[in-house]
Amino acid sequence: MGKKMNNWRADFPILAQKVNDEPLVYLDNAATTQKPLAVLQTVRDFYENDNANIHRGVHTLAQRATERYEQVRQKVTDFIHGNDWHEVVFTKGTTEALNWVAASYGATHVKAGDEIVLSYLEHHSNLVPWQQLAKKVGAKLKYIELTADGQLDLQSAADLITDRTAIVALCHASNVMGVVNPIQAVSQLAHAHGAVMVVDGAQAVPHLPVDVQELGADFYAFSGHKMLAPTGVGVLWGKLALLNEMPPLEFGGEMIANVGLYETDFKEVPYKFEGGTQNIAGVIGLGAAIDYLQAIGLEQITKHEQELISYVLPQLQAIDGLEIYGPQDPSLRTGILSFNLTGLHPHDLASALDMDGVAVRAGHHCAQPLMNYLGVSATARASFYLYNTKEDADLLIKAILDAKEFFL
Ligand code: PLP
Repeated sequence: MGKKMNNWRADFPILAQKVNDEPLVYLDNAATTQKPLAVLQTVRDFYENDNANIHRGVHTLAQRATERYEQVRQKVTDFIHGNDWHEVVFTKGTTEALNWVAASYGATHVKAGDEIVLSYLEHHSNLVPWQQLAKKVGAKLKYIELTADGQLDLQSAADLITDRTAIVALCHASNVMGVVNPIQAVSQLAHAHGAVMVVDGAQAVPHLPVDVQELGADFYAFSGHKMLAPTGVGVLWGKLALLNEMPPLEFGGEMIANVGLYETDFKEVPYKFEGGTQNIAGVIGLGAAIDYLQAIGLEQITKHEQELISYVLPQLQAIDGLEIYGPQDPSLRTGILSFNLTGLHPHDLASALDMDGVAVRAGHHCAQPLMNYLGVSATARASFYLYNTKEDADLLIKAILDAKEFFL
């Protein structure tokens, strides 16, 4: 079952520092996560011992680098329970993965008059690419409503998904409210009407066991940096038949089988999408992050975050003037909490918390349509991960109470 809870924190050297003379309490994990020694050492080891460009070299270092890079494809496949390593395309992150689905699959399969169904919870990365596609081909966007407590309204999903629907694109977990969406139920609706199910897994893969086949996803996207891996690497997983139908979007070295002066044959999936030199060290770092997460166990991480949220949520709810967005029942969310303190702008609240060493994010969290839906321009957001503790939760509460006393 891996290490005891208290030992996880010691694997993250960055967390041992003080900020503004206070111990760092890092609660900005929905934006990006810290990296354990195992990941830092793996990336360094690659550069110290095996660094070379992949695929095209016959020399020993090129072979070692290629092997280390390609091993991660199988690791990712096993981690999210894909069917075949060819289904794993490495990208810069979730944003690039979703853009590729919209610009390649979408542009060749969605027609004028078709409908694309999204929800009010979406991050701009799973909204703007679909808007652009809709404009380009003359498709229509529809948005699934939320229930009063911020969950996806399945009745609204059932009403909106029809035979006109070509794509349903939903986040697996919200980056603002932490709510986990019933992807399996929505995929069933999508498939019953012949639509393709695209899932933005950026806030789910780091926190929950994910099985893309059980979820019924056709495409699933996520980012390495939100799951302990380096920045600049992510994954687009897709069903092989769909990836095969997609034209590549970037042309050049690596992705070709044969180039003539006037015609080019592309490589097979996934290589036809990976044009140019890839983020080799990043992919290898992603492999180390997956090993680290699996050694602990995703069930264990979910349980730990649940315990923290069950501990902190009632204390936040008890603060007069603090509004918390999304379900008030901790079992319905991941470790993300968005809130506002009446009378204090969230940026001022976040700055005040920073003075106490507590790192939270304030703003629209790349979800402006959701902010409008909630009737606010911004929120403060605290997001927990496996290395956070009850002491971190206590320091968050204390810092909010201090800010309240100072400003209000
Ligand atoms: N989708 C969700 C739900 C996110 O939270 C984020 C990042 O905040 C993204 C997509 C975009 O991820 P990236 O910036 O790593 O491409």
